[in-house]
Amino acid sequence: MHETVNVDICVIGAGSGGLSVAAGAVQMGASVALIEKGEMGGDCLNTGCVPSKALLAAAEKAQGFREADRFGIESVEPTVDWAVVNRHVHDVIAAIAPNDSVERFEALGVQVIRAAALFVDEQTVEAGDVKVRAKYFVIATGSSAFVPPIDGVEQLPYFTNENLFSNNEAIEHLVVIGGGPIGLEMAQAHRRLGAKVTVLEVARLFMKDDPDLAAIVVERLRSEGVTIHEGVENLRFDKREQGSSVFATIDGKAISMDASHLLIATGRRANVDGLNLEAAGVQYSPRGVEVDARLRSSNRRIFAIGDVAGPYQFTHMAAYQAGIVIRNMLFKLPAKVDYSAVPWVTYTDPELAHVGVSQADAEAAGRDVRVLKWSFEENDRAQAEKRTEGLIKVITEKNGRILGASIVGLHAGELIQPWILAISQKLKIGAMAGMIAPYPTLAEVNKRVAGSFYTEKLFSEGTKKLVRLLMRF
Ligand SMILES: Cc1cc2nc3c(=O)[nH]c(=O)nc-3n(C[C@H](O)[C@H](O)[C@H](O)COP(=O)(O)OP(=O)(O)OC[C@H]3O[C@@H](n4cnc5c(N)ncnc54)[C@H](O)[C@@H]3O)c2cc1C
Repeated sequence: MHETVNVDICVIGAGSGGLSVAAGAVQMGASVALIEKGEMGGDCLNTGCVPSKALLAAAEKAQGFREADRFGIESVEPTVDWAVVNRHVHDVIAAIAPNDSVERFEALGVQVIRAAALFVDEQTVEAGDVKVRAKYFVIATGSSAFVPPIDGVEQLPYFTNENLFSNNEAIEHLVVIGGGPIGLEMAQAHRRLGAKVTVLEVARLFMKDDPDLAAIVVERLRSEGVTIHEGVENLRFDKREQGSSVFATIDGKAISMDASHLLIATGRRANVDGLNLEAAGVQYSPRGVEVDARLRSSNRRIFAIGDVAGPYQFTHMAAYQAGIVIRNMLFKLPAKVDYSAVPWVTYTDPELAHVGVSQADAEAAGRDVRVLKWSFEENDRAQAEKRTEGLIKVITEKNGRILGASIVGLHAGELIQPWILAISQKLKIGAMAGMIAPYPTLAEVNKRVAGSFYTEKLFSEGTKKLVRLLMRF
């Protein structure tokens, strides 16, 4: 027997996107059902952002012991207790979990259903023994690790983000397949926590980032002992008694290595399977649910947000898209997505952050832009911290309008924030140059790079002549 629930909005998936819609909509007066088949909080809380950043934080502490002698303190090779590191990771998840819990959402008035959802018709979803009829649906089912059909992979145990954070034992040699943000963050974390780490990437690292800045991260990873191979071909695995053997060719040369553990981080696949989207008239492709600029699917009463919709797969994007669909559903406003100021950060150390137009984008489009650069070596705080490997690049129109910014360096993910605001508010570079930045902070790089827009003009012969003239009075 199916119980039937009638609500204004039914959200499928209680991850970053779905939770934001459910919390927002119910607090604004809509009746909301939220369906989740797995853990509340989705990927970000349980197997993504949160555990990965917690592991990176532990790794950074370990690295500090190795580098202490730069400050006159004896360096030591840290002893890492993997079980305790793992406990730390899960403590962090547990500390955040109440925000995403069934209890919190039920207290807000959301009807939470713990089951897998599938559409039975254009207005009805079935989840366990409940049928939900709703005026609007929001598909926020996220994505899963994509595992390519590498020869031998099917006979081996391997990690993806789904089981990596359950590991509580020391790893001898981690071979990471995939040099994207997830692969590289986890490569550095495991290296710093004492593992030997090799990264194998079929294309090149940091495909979407500025190559000048990415090179600084790669150099750091290599200097810490991470072995990185790009342009890897003919990848193949063989099972060993313990772990596996990995074979590949690079520039026509055969290589092989023994791995105690494998991490497959080769991209994400949208979670559309099992939703029976055909019954609801929702069009989709392997890349996910197809949506328009208002995030409506081909069934105008069904929206899709987050990783299942793309085109960016970040928690902050899922939350941003949640705001767009709330405006569309609750207030009937034709709100559309604006992707002109979408930031992203790779949380390696140093971090690599970007927002807006890149130098490569501008060049490809033949735009007449200015490219401003400032090195962290010129920053006094970076000197004090002995963290001078860093660079900021800012792209502006000739008239100074800010188009994009990329930063590599300590806390680049924090330093990028004013540029996001500047681009979204269409500010000119003078706004950043004129800001009073507290001294000594890393954030002074933002002001100084902006100031460099004026250097040529300010220190020109024309200015000198004008000043000499004015000094006569
Ligand atoms: C290792 C890793 C690190 C990451 N780090 C970052 C980071 O630092 N910063 C960042 O911005 N992003 C990061 N991400 C990406 C981020 O986790 C995702 O972009 C974000 O979780 C997407 O949110 P979502 O709501 O679309 O999907 P999710 O958070 O994955 O939620 C989807 C939910 O839907 C549920 N579901 C699926 N199908 C059904 C169904 N049929 N019925 C009911 N429920 C269903 C799932 O169980 C899941 O709980 C990382 C990802 C990984 C894997």
